[in-house]
Amino acid sequence: MADYKQYKQQVLSGETTVVRTVQDFLAKAIQQKHLNAFIELWGEESLMRAAQIDLQIAEGKGGKLAGMVIALKDNICYKGHSVTNSSKILKGFESLYSSTVVERIIAEGAVIIGRCNCDEFAMGASNETSAYGPVLNARDNTRVPGGSSGGCTVAVQAGMCHAALGSDTGGSIRQPAAFCGQVGFKPSYGRVSRWGLLSYGSSFDQIGPITSNIYDCALLMEVISGTDGKDATASSNKVEDYTDLQASNKPLRFAYLDTCLNNKGLDEELRTQSFAIFEQLKALGHTVETVEFPYLDYLVPAYYVLTTAEASSNLSRYQGLTYGYRTEEKGDLDSLFKKSRSEGFGREVKRRIMLGTFVLTSDFYDAYYTKAQKVRRLIQESTEKILESYDFIITPTTPSTAFKFGEKTKDPVAMYLADIFTVQANLSGHPAISIPAGVHSNGMPWGIQLMGKQFGEKKLFSFSEELSKIVSP
Ligand code: GLN
Repeated sequence: MADYKQYKQQVLSGETTVVRTVQDFLAKAIQQKHLNAFIELWGEESLMRAAQIDLQIAEGKGGKLAGMVIALKDNICYKGHSVTNSSKILKGFESLYSSTVVERIIAEGAVIIGRCNCDEFAMGASNETSAYGPVLNARDNTRVPGGSSGGCTVAVQAGMCHAALGSDTGGSIRQPAAFCGQVGFKPSYGRVSRWGLLSYGSSFDQIGPITSNIYDCALLMEVISGTDGKDATASSNKVEDYTDLQASNKPLRFAYLDTCLNNKGLDEELRTQSFAIFEQLKALGHTVETVEFPYLDYLVPAYYVLTTAEASSNLSRYQGLTYGYRTEEKGDLDSLFKKSRSEGFGREVKRRIMLGTFVLTSDFYDAYYTKAQKVRRLIQESTEKILESYDFIITPTTPSTAFKFGEKTKDPVAMYLADIFTVQANLSGHPAISIPAGVHSNGMPWGIQLMGKQFGEKKLFSFSEELSKIVSP
């Protein structure tokens, strides 16, 4: 697919229009409905908006994203539009306000084409827990697209939009990007406002782009990043010029974690391919060294204790009164809450609410919650320390390529382990990107992940552009 720069050129030269582009995307989305990427297409509205943008461009106005066609994950609020987090419990609910990211992309001329399927409440790594059914990987329909932003990623993969905005609490942008051969970016915690994102684990959640190339990803980040009076965790650090992708003129230092590359769960071919990339980097004069990271086995447990605890609190607001779904059964207030929640939430969400409630009970708080907080601190410190001596941490994004439907649904722990290489960045707050790294002999794409220094987005994008040229499939 043409990147935004080329497309903008085509619009300016009259080769295409934004309206025609939206029509094409809509047609592709309808033709490939079986992939189940979109829950809802805002066809008429996006065509009207496209016509306005065409006029603006003709008048030489158009913003930074003029005519870029973007899909939203079904957990990002857009005023007057439904948002359900792919859950029955939010059936019929409409956003009363727009998220900050939506306001920012609209102000720069983006066209929002629809909302995309995801794992229910962004809890999952395969997009199999959605109340709207699974999303299919466009490369191989028997395989998962990854999750939880599976719909967004397939919408980009299958050419139904230029880009999408997803959310990443433990890998939900980078993991599907790796499974579908796209670029996925998890910003530094606090880089992007969470205002209007339906919360899962508030101290982990970040909104970020899924795109077909690095430039578009950097461009979207330039627009959505920055301080926001509506989110106290949004940083006031200056937003740099991320699209100024500069080739590094000095050798860089890469760390890879011994425990990650020698992990027994890592696919043999991905291990060999990763080492081959390290050799290519060395041949270019960079340093690639192994570092000790003794916490790999603690990443997933700490992540699941803390995020389920936060989720159990965040999801307590869905009780059948304020939002969306309410049970039909008559009864007192207590039973209305219980029935609505029992009927409205799916199995995985219930499992996590119970887990989170358990780790927060006074009897077990110290044994689980406090301990996991301490582990999080150790992980943060250790990651920070590695990044004091190295520019980037480099790993495969996932331990395997996209797996088959049903392969992990009976074993939640096997599913949770799909996140083993991505959760570190969420626990520590560092930015991380997944870049398409090649194709496995099973025909599926895989991704290489780079983690950078806190608020080191600019350098991360610049080097990602270089790396993507080296590894491009
Ligand atoms: N797979 C992880 C989970 O299930 C990540 C989800 C996410 O990043 N939203 O929690």
